[in-house]
Amino acid sequence: MATPGNLFILSAPSGAGKSSLITALLKQPNKRKLQVSVSHTTREPRPGEINGEHYHFVSVEDFKKSIEQKHFYEWAEVFDNYYGTSEVAIDEQLAKGIDVFLDIDWQGAQQVRMKKPDVTTIFISPPSRATLEDRLRKRGQDSEEVIAQRMAQAQSECSHFQEFDYIIINDEFEQALADLVTIVENQRLKRSQQVENHKDLFKDLLAND
Ligand code: GDP
Ligand code: ADP
Ligand code: 5GP
Repeated sequence: MATPGNLFILSAPSGAGKSSLITALLKQPNKRKLQVSVSHTTREPRPGEINGEHYHFVSVEDFKKSIEQKHFYEWAEVFDNYYGTSEVAIDEQLAKGIDVFLDIDWQGAQQVRMKKPDVTTIFISPPSRATLEDRLRKRGQDSEEVIAQRMAQAQSECSHFQEFDYIIINDEFEQALADLVTIVENQRLKRSQQVENHKDLFKDLLAND
């Protein structure tokens, strides 16, 4: 069923530029509200990451409790850590007409697609494998061991690209951002969305005098 807000998923191998693109998208002038869902994770915060802003950082024990209590819309184990999207983070916002972005892995994308088939899914690809490794290193926030692990995982994440509606190649950042804006605008103009958001207009246009 269409909701007043649109749900988007961004997936990509780590380092492809999801976080940078989402941050830049939030700074764009938008006619409608847009939010990024803050996930829960059991991984350690990186330098500069703020609890409640980048992630809700929780213990493995608390995460498992939340799974049992069915607090998650979706959850997955990625790089030996748990990541999950809470149910309330999505539904309340969509009902209010806010577009919600999920930065989640392919396993989470599969779960959300089953629950909400009208979700728009976007795969962010790096321009090359070498560039991906270079960006992970330049970001300077992960150890060599973690970088090697993320590069090994990249192939598995990329093997799911065919499950996504759109693909953005993040080579030139400004072009990739423009592509992302186009996808968001396109979704907002779809008939199902326009009818949902302009109910009174269509009632008026179709009224018999
Ligand atoms: P990043 O990939 O460098 O941004 O590193 P992170 O540690 O922030 O995320 C690691 C992976 O977990 C990425 O593939 C994210 O898309 C994924 N992820 C983050 N939050 C969630 C979530 O709530 N659910 C799922 N399923 N995956 C998530
Ligand atoms: P992700 O969230 O997918 O792991 P990030 O957004 O953290 O990726 O990006 C990884 C690194 O690459 C960051 O240092 C970011 O500033 C840089 N980056 C992102 N997009 C580009 C781009 N188009 N050109 C050059 N560097 C980029
Ligand atoms: P910062 O944390 O200073 O915003 O970004 C760190 C690095 O990410 C930059 O030195 C740059 O390599 C890359 N980056 C961030 N934003 C952009 C962008 O808009 N365009 C490009 N080409 N690279 C970017």
